[in-house]
Amino acid sequence: MKIDNSFGTSVTVNGREYRWPKSPTVVVCIDGSEPGYIERAIEAGLAPNFDRLMSTGTNLLAQSVIPSFTNPNNISIITGRPPAVHGIAGNYFYDPATGEEVMMNDARFMRAPTIMKAFHDAGAKVAVVTAKDKLRTLLGYGLDPLSGRAIAFSSEKADKATRPENGIDNVLDFVGMPLPDVYSAELSEFVFAAGVKLLQTFRPDVMYLSTTDYIQHKAAPGTEIANCFYAMLDRYVGELDAAGCVLVLTADHGMNDKHLANGEPDVIYLQELFDEWLGAGQARVILPITDPYVVHHGALGSFATVYLPEGAKRSEMISKLTSLEGVEVAIDREEACRRYELPPDRIGDLVVISTRHKVLGTARAKHDLSGLTEPLRSHGGLTEQTVPMIANRKVEVPAGRTLRNFDVFDVALNRVV
Ligand SMILES: [Zn+2]
Repeated sequence: MKIDNSFGTSVTVNGREYRWPKSPTVVVCIDGSEPGYIERAIEAGLAPNFDRLMSTGTNLLAQSVIPSFTNPNNISIITGRPPAVHGIAGNYFYDPATGEEVMMNDARFMRAPTIMKAFHDAGAKVAVVTAKDKLRTLLGYGLDPLSGRAIAFSSEKADKATRPENGIDNVLDFVGMPLPDVYSAELSEFVFAAGVKLLQTFRPDVMYLSTTDYIQHKAAPGTEIANCFYAMLDRYVGELDAAGCVLVLTADHGMNDKHLANGEPDVIYLQELFDEWLGAGQARVILPITDPYVVHHGALGSFATVYLPEGAKRSEMISKLTSLEGVEVAIDREEACRRYELPPDRIGDLVVISTRHKVLGTARAKHDLSGLTEPLRSHGGLTEQTVPMIANRKVEVPAGRTLRNFDVFDVALNRVV
């Protein structure tokens, strides 16, 4: 966690070194951008800027963090390290110390400083814009808005931004858009519009923009809704590029259909199964996708962790789980932490991951699916781990290196040729 204050050369944070940017460097996380969304929009003639970047700059694939959820991946991106290092293993977790299930959207849960903080502390100008406010507190962690060199706000609460808290006020006027609805494409558009304005006026050395996957949860690649969304993104990609910056775009996770032919979600209700196997309420199934914004996924994703009661045999539970159709991975905590670089104290005794088109639930009665207006699309598993890594410059990645989405700042700051 040593931060090197050698202004103008490089910054070292969480054991990785990042070169001081020669021109503004913009990293974008397009939430839920499964490979195919951008390509289908290009094929429809709606994304000429992406098309140009991908042919003259860089078009690679990268692997996300597991669980392939929003918070663990955004925090990995902004710290440059996996959850074992930064501690954010889900949107939601069970704290055995207090016996409570809590949202992991408080900066006190973070165990590593961000790349943004390191650059800010070393004298750089930094900016962070997120769609949802739940991420803003984590991503803006450690920044001092009163320095005049740090701006961090969300589209969701853009109207409430203040200089002491966010380093900026009057954001709606600044961006020139009305406050978007939390469930809308405009929530993401606002992030990009703000990013363009900040790049043109504030000229941050390093900027991070993070959208929301509201559209990707609803619409598959190539659909009219998705193409329309990516056409909008494309216009802003063109504006960011034209404003002069190194621009690298990746995603926190992909997205897949997770429903039956009749449109109903295809769910394995794990709490019901454990209640059957061990007695009611004996095991505790935690779904780390859970967040206050359940409308677009009903808290159904492809990753779950399970706390077992004393005396329950892990190996017995694992073999029961493995025999279920739709379970791709059922392993114990130690194996999961080794395989996916997770923090052991925030993971249950077991980790369960479902296959491409299945999701994991607790009990039928506990999921409010009334907000699902479209057949479920979701994420969380290994099948949503592959994401794009697109840059407006050529980049050189060492041969044989598996690129992770949390290498995106390394790519943007160190790998551009
Ligand atoms: Zn996401």
